[in-house]
Amino acid sequence: MHVNPAAAPSGTDTHCPYCALQCGMTLRPVPEGRGTEGTGAAIEVAERPAFPVNRGALCGKGWTAPAVLASHVRLTEPLVRRRSSGELEPATWEEALGLIAARLDRTRRTHGPHAVGVFGGGGLTNEKAYALGKFARLVLGTSQIDYNGRFCMSSAAAAGTRAFGVDRGLPFPLSDVARTGCVILVGSNLAETMPPALRYLTELRENGGRLIVIDPRRTRTAEQADLHLAPRPGTDLALALGLLHLIVAEGRLDQEFIDARTSGWPDVRSAAMAHWPELVERITGVSVPELRQAVRLFCDTENAMVLTARGPEQQSKGTDTVSAWINLCLATGRAGRPLSGYGCLTGQGNGQGGREHGQKADQLPGYRKLDDPEARAHVAQVWGVDPAVLPGPGRSAYELLDALGGDIRTLLLMGSNPAVSAPRAAHVEERLRSLDFLAVCDVVLSESAQLADVVLPVTQWAEETGTTTNLEGRVLLRRKAIDPPAGVRTDLGVLNELAARLGWEKGFPTAPEEVFDELCRASAGGPADYSGITYARIAAEDGVFWPCPDHTGRGRGHTHGPYAHGTDSAQYGSKNETVNDGVTDAEQETQTTAHPGTPRLFLDRFATPDGRARFVPVVHRPAAEEPDAEYPLRLTTGRVLAQYQSGAQTRRVDELNTAAPGPFVELHPRLAGQLGAADGDRLAVVSRRGRAVAPARVTSGIRPDTVFMPFHWYGEGRANTLTNPALDPASRMPEFKVCAVRVELAPAP
Ligand code: SF4
Repeated sequence: MHVNPAAAPSGTDTHCPYCALQCGMTLRPVPEGRGTEGTGAAIEVAERPAFPVNRGALCGKGWTAPAVLASHVRLTEPLVRRRSSGELEPATWEEALGLIAARLDRTRRTHGPHAVGVFGGGGLTNEKAYALGKFARLVLGTSQIDYNGRFCMSSAAAAGTRAFGVDRGLPFPLSDVARTGCVILVGSNLAETMPPALRYLTELRENGGRLIVIDPRRTRTAEQADLHLAPRPGTDLALALGLLHLIVAEGRLDQEFIDARTSGWPDVRSAAMAHWPELVERITGVSVPELRQAVRLFCDTENAMVLTARGPEQQSKGTDTVSAWINLCLATGRAGRPLSGYGCLTGQGNGQGGREHGQKADQLPGYRKLDDPEARAHVAQVWGVDPAVLPGPGRSAYELLDALGGDIRTLLLMGSNPAVSAPRAAHVEERLRSLDFLAVCDVVLSESAQLADVVLPVTQWAEETGTTTNLEGRVLLRRKAIDPPAGVRTDLGVLNELAARLGWEKGFPTAPEEVFDELCRASAGGPADYSGITYARIAAEDGVFWPCPDHTGRGRGHTHGPYAHGTDSAQYGSKNETVNDGVTDAEQETQTTAHPGTPRLFLDRFATPDGRARFVPVVHRPAAEEPDAEYPLRLTTGRVLAQYQSGAQTRRVDELNTAAPGPFVELHPRLAGQLGAADGDRLAVVSRRGRAVAPARVTSGIRPDTVFMPFHWYGEGRANTLTNPALDPASRMPEFKVCAVRVELAPAP
């Protein structure tokens, strides 16, 4: 591993490879004489206090990220499954690429283009997500592409789009959270999932603001709250309706805002009035006095926010649940003005950008819709093809995985590990095994890669340059700090090589900046307009918030989004603290007249045709699977501090494994007593889809009718063996957050 000369000795400013906070960090060569025995990595992480989002703070995952760069934990040569041994064995790049291209081509010819599937990831950079979508639709001609971000926040995206006309995780900078009056945090355990963000909630309270946390578990985040409401999993929608009922009943509506800036209130009012507090108490388990207290805290302040995360979103009614929380904001005038509003705390590293640039089943770059003739014409023109050649929308992530081995015969998997992260994971694993051919690009031999016919070792994070878009819609530059190990190639390089073998000599550049430039042109005029953004601007301004149309006449873009109001971006980010990264004088001059980017959306109008936010009437409905005599408990799943998503990377870091060595079943002492179980006893959690076994962790911080399991592990403790793939009708997001289970003592292994 060679340190990039540009990185030495002061270091390379970049961002963490993991979650959507995309913390700023500096990568420095390990000083001579220190040795790299601990991690094997030649670089180490240093604080980067001037980056405005995390202000130098990192969690343990960020500090230890270089460990995954070490060659002993990762793939450094292509692998091909040999017929003779049935095992994955080393191969040359030429052989591996040739084999993949041949099998993709054979499947297309034999079964048609839609028999080839492509599955991407929310951790891929914007450039990779864009190139993967373009590869699928142009080179393969398949409609069957989706990505694991569908599992992450697609319900919030669907609800945000139908209310506001566009989906951006937070329509304001994260720092606004510290300056509002009250935050309702729904289904988020920030203290474990993105600890540096917790400081904004701490500052909120230091500034006199109030924090309400809604979570079935008394998490570390809930412990910080002024009020913790612990509803039954899957009942957040009823809870929001009950609060809105009380807001109407107590005369706390902002009628002026409703009249001036929204549409559709009467139907939402009727739905809320049908949800009496006493009924809501019965559904949720949250008492009427607690509901009243929440309304007081939320309404007795000029500004307030609701922030949702996976809790309300990963449900078979996730879109309606988020809509209920948005309705609460709109009814009280907490939207479309500074320091108030609704936001989604995006999960994966590029969860936001990953859903904007064309790897989602129904979308084209710039958050354009694949079934919109104008969008198709625009993107086709950028790609130099007839719009008629672009396939239509395909299946959503779980539906695509469920079809493997059926009408999808071959799959290209990039940056995802569905054998651990998908719902009903044993079934998904069996579907992966049933394929005619599986090709995987990854940095490590993940559980999904182990099922492949060909595995390609690719670069990651500090070994390549690319952009991500954080949870605020701030487009960031991850810079290359070191050379990758010998034998490893970039994802962009892989797509270029495969495209060439399939007859596309041009159109798939390997230089990330060249891909970004094309992505920006493709996004011009779309809802997520990046056309005014350049690598140089991101470097100079430490991130640029989209939409950022091109005003400069450089010819990238041409339109203003309907809501891209001129803004105060200068207040955010520190424009001068990073190196200029090759910005020329001419570019600097251009920057002074360029669109400033849009830190705050909707200040004058929402992105709907009439500029008004849309109330959407929703009513409570049960989870797809409610407890019964056979499965009397609810299971909810989530993350722990020291692991990340499917654990493919973090389970390879010694320090993180020591902190979080394996799965567990969290349960209340009353339930433990009924089972005769003590801390550490092996428990089997059984659902209609399978059985998972893990040690008991007894705590009074969880409801007695609910058990919790983290989902980072494979094997007998794989939580997603149990989860229910019931899909939300709008977002097609599976119901990870609630299913019916029973728990029993398990025999010793
Ligand atoms: S909070 Fe997220 S982005 Fe920040 S260091 Fe931790 S994992 Fe990385």
